[in-house]
Amino acid sequence: MDEAVRVADLLFPGADVEVERLVLTDAEVCVAVRSRAAAAACPECGERSSRVHCHDEQCLTDRPVAGPRVRIELRAQRLVCENTSCTHRTFTEQIPGLTRRHARRTQSLTTLLTDMTLFLSARPGARLSKRMSITTCKDTLLRLIRTLPDPQPGPVPVLGVDEFALRRRRTYATIPINMTTHRLVDVLADRTAETFATWLRGHPGVRVICRGRAGSFRDGACAGAPRARQAADIWHLRHNLAEAVERIAGRHRAQLCEPLAAPVDTPPAAAAAQRELDIHERPRPLVSRTHEMPHCQF
Ligand SMILES: [Zn+2]
Repeated sequence: MDEAVRVADLLFPGADVEVERLVLTDAEVCVAVRSRAAAAACPECGERSSRVHCHDEQCLTDRPVAGPRVRIELRAQRLVCENTSCTHRTFTEQIPGLTRRHARRTQSLTTLLTDMTLFLSARPGARLSKRMSITTCKDTLLRLIRTLPDPQPGPVPVLGVDEFALRRRRTYATIPINMTTHRLVDVLADRTAETFATWLRGHPGVRVICRGRAGSFRDGACAGAPRARQAADIWHLRHNLAEAVERIAGRHRAQLCEPLAAPVDTPPAAAAAQRELDIHERPRPLVSRTHEMPHCQF
């Protein structure tokens, strides 16, 4: 019995279950467990009941142990809901830390697969799970991610804002970005000043707004967060500078001098040899030229 208690604590920490049988094969570990809870709450009305109607046999998949997969044969209680106004006459108990309604895998395995998908994405996560003797596919992993609640952004003292093309030249959204973490905070349905101002009123912690020169963002910031400082976004500054330089250069194109011609007194063979020498003796850059860093991260 002591061995069974230790196995239950090792495999199912925090779950009030008792291990009845443990069968080891080369392919899997089969664990037969039963609940030890004296009562459980009805999922419909929340009233607790200890009146047992019958027992349900459930088969669950758990995290693999030392290679082989783990299959759990759970004997759960089906209880009678004694609340006469409740629509559920009977219900199957859920064991905290182990089971969830309609789920065929334990909560610890669900957490493991969710973390793998968040770190690796769905397809590599499915490949790794196969190596870990967990049967799943990329679509299942994507469903796990979609069931996660949306993360709460918390306070955003320094906010970046820009437009985002849902359909280029036709439909645009607004993306507020936390400039401290460089992460997307929300997606607004359009790029109007009213929408942006409404969003700012719901997030009163904004102190600095980094934005482009679009008038809608200026008006939205003034209306929604009048006490926040507005700063020009570095990407838009560089973009506007490049456009201005190009425009001025085009305007004065006729006044630009032609490049100097190469000296004509050098024999062609000697000039080619000199060019070859220049190329080989020219110091090479220590780092490769990279593109401009993105100003936000999704
Ligand atoms: Zn009920």
